Amino acid sequence: MLEVKNLKKRFGDFEAVKGISFSVSKGEVLGFLGPNGAGKSTTMRMITGFLPPSEGTALICGHDITADPVEAKKCLGYLPESAPSYRAMVVEEYLAFIAEIRGFRGAKRREAVERAIAKARLEPVARKTIETLSKGYRQRTCFAQAIIHDPAVLIMDEPTDGLDPNQKYAVREMIKEMSAEKAIVISTHILEEVDAVCTRAIVIADGEIKADGTPAKLKAMDPSGRLDTVFRNLTCKDGGKEATK
Ligand code: ADP
Ligand code: MG
Repeated sequence: MLEVKNLKKRFGDFEAVKGISFSVSKGEVLGFLGPNGAGKSTTMRMITGFLPPSEGTALICGHDITADPVEAKKCLGYLPESAPSYRAMVVEEYLAFIAEIRGFRGAKRREAVERAIAKARLEPVARKTIETLSKGYRQRTCFAQAIIHDPAVLIMDEPTDGLDPNQKYAVREMIKEMSAEKAIVISTHILEEVDAVCTRAIVIADGEIKADGTPAKLKAMDPSGRLDTVFRNLTCKDGGKEATK
C-alpha cells in the first residue's frame, strides 16, 4: 500500500535524508524510530506531499505522490508533528470543514464527521472550541482529521508526544483498532511504543536506515535483548557511552 523509493532531501549543503526506501503492507504498523534530528519528520513530509523530495518518490496505493498528488492524497491520512491551527473552531465544525476539503457533501459529509468523532472518541468535546481542549483531546481532534476519509495509508508523526500515560494508551488503542484495514507508519523516539503497537520497526539516524525488522528481530541484535541498547548502538556514534558519562 505504501512504497517509499530512495527518498533524499537536501537543505542547501546539508543532506537531511540520504536515500530511504521501504514498503508497508495492509495490516502493518511500522514504527519509524530515531533520535531527534534523524530525519523522521522530513521523510514523512516528503511521503505526504508537503515537502518536495530532492530525489526519489513514494507510491500511495500505486499513485505517485510527486507525479499524481491529487490521487495519492485521497488514499492518505497525515497527522503532522504540531497540533491543529484552527484553534477558534468548534471540533465538529473543524471536522466538517476538513471533510468538505476532502470532497464530502451533504449527508456523506455528516456521516464522515460522525464516523471520525466516534473513532477518535471525541463525543464529549464535539461542541467545544479546539483552544479550550486538553492536549489529549486536541491530539485526538488531529487524529480525527487524519482519518476523516478513511484512508488506506496513515502517516502519524509522533502521535503520542506530550500526552500523559492514559492519553498515550488511548491513542495506541485507536491505532490498533484501525490497523487491520490500513498500512500505518508512526514516528517516535519512545521505544515502549514499539512493543505497544508496532508489528515492525525501522531505525533511522543521520538520514539513513540502520535497521528494519520485527520488534523481536531488533531486540535480538544485542545480547541484552533490550531495545534501548540496540537503539543506542545503532544511533550513537560511540554506542551511547558519551551520553551516560
Ligand atoms: P526528526 O523528525 O527525526 O527529529 P527532522 O526530519 O525534523 O528530524 O530533521 C532532520 C534534520 O534536518 C535536522 O538536522 C534538521 O535540523 C534538518 N532540517 C529539517 N527541516 C529543515 C529545513 N526546512 N531547513 C533546514 N534544515 C532542516
Ligand atoms: Mg520530527
